[in-house]
Amino acid sequence: MTSKTSREEEKNISLPSEEYSLIDTAEIIITGNEIISGKTQDTNSRFLARELRKIGITVHYISTVSDDPQDLYEAAKLAYSRSDLIISSGGLGPTEDDVTMEVMCRAAGLNLQLDADCLATIEAYFARTKRKCAPNNRKQAYMPQGARILKNHFGTAPGAFVHFDYLGKPRHLALLPGPPGELVPMFTDSLKPVLKELSPHRYRTHSFRVYGLGESNIEMLLLDLIKENKGINLATYASSYEVEVLVSEVISDRQDNGALFQNYVETIRRRLKHFIFTEKEETLAQRVLDLLIQREYTIAFAESCTAGLLSSLIGSVPGASKAFFGSVISYNNDIKEKFLKVDSGILEHFGAVSRETALAMADGARESFQTDFSVSITGIAGPSGASPEKPVGTVWIGLVSPTVREAFRFQFSGERKRIQERAAFRALDLIRRALENWPLAEKEE
Ligand code: ATP
Repeated sequence: MTSKTSREEEKNISLPSEEYSLIDTAEIIITGNEIISGKTQDTNSRFLARELRKIGITVHYISTVSDDPQDLYEAAKLAYSRSDLIISSGGLGPTEDDVTMEVMCRAAGLNLQLDADCLATIEAYFARTKRKCAPNNRKQAYMPQGARILKNHFGTAPGAFVHFDYLGKPRHLALLPGPPGELVPMFTDSLKPVLKELSPHRYRTHSFRVYGLGESNIEMLLLDLIKENKGINLATYASSYEVEVLVSEVISDRQDNGALFQNYVETIRRRLKHFIFTEKEETLAQRVLDLLIQREYTIAFAESCTAGLLSSLIGSVPGASKAFFGSVISYNNDIKEKFLKVDSGILEHFGAVSRETALAMADGARESFQTDFSVSITGIAGPSGASPEKPVGTVWIGLVSPTVREAFRFQFSGERKRIQERAAFRALDLIRRALENWPLAEKEE
């Protein structure tokens, strides 16, 4: 296939499915010494498995393989012998240890050839970022013969999707880069639409994103539904501060109008109630910002122990300035007095980590920034500064809105960074609950 053809194909991503065999079984190969040594946590396989499930493709194996070409070669051969679709992650870079493209293709019997378009894109990338394109960067422009090139808008390594026969069986191979910031958009924009066409199943899915309940709590609440199994699959995916509950069903009967599935979804919604922060593809911070904008509210923060983390979470959502006015980071008591107008008597009498100070900080931020909402965080992130009454992890979060003026005490566990993150996410969830008129807090954690 010429490079021109592969470019044209990228624009028109639907495949004539009669020409290609459908995908029943899928397998993921994660490469890299960094992953296998435990230095970097693999998040790509989880992302890929979950996304494939959403389009009706089941992953049967996930292997993690070192950068050693022989290890990878053997893993590739095994994968080709048993799976219709093989997706690899990592090792597409320019360095010596980036061998995935070469080894996976050699194991498949596919030749690599220089793709002129890829080379031009790589050279343009270096020119744009005012860096020198080293000779080994040219290596990244060698693509398997007949492959569809998957553009990398966030790095230099292009991905590839190619079809081949292995011991008489049709196989699909997708080679994706390792950095999640490159793999996720490449999969979502370029590969997923094509794989959807190759999925043998019609399917329906629904996703809930939950904050404040762990996987085991969720399982207890949904145990009967999990056991019932009327062809509806329920999977949970936990990441740092949320759990995604993914409900999926393969539609085998043309008469099936989805009533049972809807019933199932409705039952989950009723059981998980206000712990569900969204049923869309969005983060908690995005949800909070969206609610603020929808309701035309503005917000400001006064952050002590989180040092701006809450502001950063909201500030990293595009369009944040529509609702987020600013914040005061007030580690020092003088700063609490000077910039947030916290009364020195309150600080002396109740201490910096107290309901009264949290409320006064929130009042001060609301007053200074003239916003509808304000949230304050004051606590002991540790390891020092604790007392028997206020151990490490004690955090007060204050919230003031046109209708609410309350502060809540939380007891978070973990080391300093973890406590700060927990406090910032809890504050986000408090705002979300206030905006949706849910109970603000039910228990200490
Ligand atoms: P590039 O050369 O463009 O960075 P690559 O395809 O060669 O991409 P790798 O060298 O394998 O990618 O990995 C680059 C970085 O991406 C790693 O250092 C790691 O931080 C991250 N990464 C790689 N694989 C994974 C993974 N499975 N999960 C999470 N992060 C990963």
